[in-house]
Amino acid sequence: MMGHSHALTGVVGWMAVVPLVQGTEFLTLSFDLGPGEIIAGSLVCAGAALLPDLDHKSATITRTYGKVTEVLSDIFGWAFGGHRMGTHSFFFAALMGTLVTLLAMWSELAVQIFVFLLIGIALQGLGFGLDKNKAASGIINAMATGAITLALYSAELNYTWLGLAVAFGVILHFFGDMITKMGVPMFWPFWKKRIGQDKGFKTNGPVEQKVVTPLLTIGVVLFSVYLFDWSTLLPEY
Ligand SMILES: [Zn+2]
Repeated sequence: MMGHSHALTGVVGWMAVVPLVQGTEFLTLSFDLGPGEIIAGSLVCAGAALLPDLDHKSATITRTYGKVTEVLSDIFGWAFGGHRMGTHSFFFAALMGTLVTLLAMWSELAVQIFVFLLIGIALQGLGFGLDKNKAASGIINAMATGAITLALYSAELNYTWLGLAVAFGVILHFFGDMITKMGVPMFWPFWKKRIGQDKGFKTNGPVEQKVVTPLLTIGVVLFSVYLFDWSTLLPEY
């Protein structure tokens, strides 16, 4: 799957889960998700859905923050056994989820920075990075990321679900790779066999371009209509 499809699955995935978990509580987590949490969660999940490909040199995420993400990519590639290995596993999803949960417990500032970085990755993945004009798209992306992060910051969101959203995004990524013609070693490091190989459609082939991406886009629109209370935007008579 291409970066933008992965990012879209993150948005759709989070929006699909919101009605299921809304109002529930689980251990220290409380899912009282308002519009801010829905938007933040969608973008966090979209960014996280690109995380596993940090093990690949030319992936969207690796190119997002220049040298910083390139060096991170080398480290991830080394630590997790190369492309489409450890970063495409439940182990990685659990690891990231745990680290982010600890981060959220440790410092509110760290959370804001992490969310900012992840939204930048999400927007890059969703296609704010217009390839034709790199400098302009970089500036647009940075401004949009800053604006969204500030808006979310001032909305004083409850981020107890942050780690879970990250783990969920990672899992959505490797399921996305599985429905395209790529197996993923989801039980790495215990069982390194790639599961799902040779089935599914081609990455960036006609099915992904003409069916999957448009369907995901429609999904975002439909869930947005369903989840948000748009009546508040209408003038009152
Ligand atoms: Zn992948």
